[in-house]
Amino acid sequence: MAAPVKQAKPQTGKKALQEYARKRDFARTPEPKPKRGEGTASGFVVQKHAARRLHFDLRLELDGVLKSWAVTRGPSLTLGEKRLAVRTEDHPLEYLDFEGNIPKGEYGGGSMIVWDRGRWLPEGDPHKGLAKGHLAFALEGSRLKGRWHLVRIRPKAGEKSEPWLLMKSEDEFARAPGQPEITEEESTSYLSGRTNQELAADGALRADHAARVTTVRQRKRLLPDFATIKGARKGLLPTFLEPILASNCDKPPSGPKWIHAKSSMTAIVCRRASMAAPSSCLRERRSTGRSAFAASPMR
Ligand code: MN
Repeated sequence: MAAPVKQAKPQTGKKALQEYARKRDFARTPEPKPKRGEGTASGFVVQKHAARRLHFDLRLELDGVLKSWAVTRGPSLTLGEKRLAVRTEDHPLEYLDFEGNIPKGEYGGGSMIVWDRGRWLPEGDPHKGLAKGHLAFALEGSRLKGRWHLVRIRPKAGEKSEPWLLMKSEDEFARAPGQPEITEEESTSYLSGRTNQELAADGALRADHAARVTTVRQRKRLLPDFATIKGARKGLLPTFLEPILASNCDKPPSGPKWIHAKSSMTAIVCRRASMAAPSSCLRERRSTGRSAFAASPMR
């Protein structure tokens, strides 16, 4: 069934994630930065992605990146079901655990949950399999198990994407036609137990944040524009940060990663929401007039 599609040269080094980087604005999306990983681990992930069109993304770890396919109708355990899987750009390894809300208007905008996670075991050399257009492998996930095939097919005339088919092999995990679909049975995140809808709702303005809008409007001095701070990313702050237990030391540590304040047995929790946050936080503490020493590493 493998079609003679011209295979792109295997991408090496930095080049491997170039397309991933080109498609995204990391000041806007919470997705991981394009960093190539190391090692020969064999993780896999299936993400359920409520983008413009709902689909599932299958990613298999190989050579420090994740080989990726967008599976339109999702994987099926049913024998004889062939699911269209369009090859997409390689993703960084950190993507194995990524779930979050990609802002509307950005590439792949919508909520993404980790639907399944585990190990994949290629049968034979996966590099040859990829080049040839036929990957045979086993999945050891929590929802997807057993043996599978990915087979490249001939694209339609003028079609630029690389279509493959994802199929379940016959084994004890395969289901007979007419039995329920695993994608219908399981709709939550393997990591957090949330559905796409619940995750998307989390991204809405929280009540405590909404209340802060009034405070911010009354501020005389404005905080710097986040867009102008290198590496800054807009996002929701957690409702609760677990304080780190402080310990005594003779001399305060120095360097830009440390802040110092006076306090009497009072825990100081700082969140670096912007470069302006630490100083405003310290000013606030000083005005309460406490008098012992405490230092806390900033994260
Ligand atoms: Mn996707």
